[in-house]
Amino acid sequence: MAHRQLTGAVVIATHNPGKLAEMRDLLSPYNITATSAAELNLAEPDETGKTFAANARIKAMAAATATGQPAFADDSGLCVDALGGDPGIYSARWAGPDKDFRGAMNQIQTRLVEKGATSPAQRRAHFVAALCIAWPDGHVEEVEGRVDGVIVWPPKGTAGFGYDPLFLPDGHDRTFGEMTADEKHGLPPKGMGLSHRARAFVMLAEKCLRG
Ligand code: IMP
Repeated sequence: MAHRQLTGAVVIATHNPGKLAEMRDLLSPYNITATSAAELNLAEPDETGKTFAANARIKAMAAATATGQPAFADDSGLCVDALGGDPGIYSARWAGPDKDFRGAMNQIQTRLVEKGATSPAQRRAHFVAALCIAWPDGHVEEVEGRVDGVIVWPPKGTAGFGYDPLFLPDGHDRTFGEMTADEKHGLPPKGMGLSHRARAFVMLAEKCLRG
């Protein structure tokens, strides 16, 4: 089946300023006008899905239906192997209503210590990003990207958002929290498309975006 191309305008179905900034950066080379769900005062749907992909689809479909425009959503999170994949799809919820990521990072460290996970090999983790573009007629295009690494302690760096200071991607000696935006998620020639969201975006661009 042919993939549908995204042209003209898109609603970015997120209320998270960190993600919005990354998505705007990623879309900037394409001739697409992006408005955010927050700017349009759209309600945030309940994320009732059991997978990243299901939640991305719920958010994109809700925004496409509410606006009559194609909508672009991501659902992402950090999966820690020794914690059975937690916080996973609950990554945002672990930080609570006050978005206390310092507390959420502490929880991860506490649980890893409880399990005796002290060596890098015992502290494997990956970020996942599911991206979905939904059209008002119900058509969707979906991809999933992933980046593997290790949970470090203490958290390092003040850049990025969420769990960035905790995550050391494989093959690098600085955490996401110590990287510039271009190092974390820039695409060539600015960066190497390192983050889960950048990797998913490259797949989506191949399917649905013309440079
Ligand atoms: P959701 O996709 O809005 O449900 O939220 C995903 C949550 O996962 C975010 O609030 C962050 O806590 C975390 N997360 C997702 N991507 C990243 C990232 O690139 N860096 C740090 N944390 C992330």
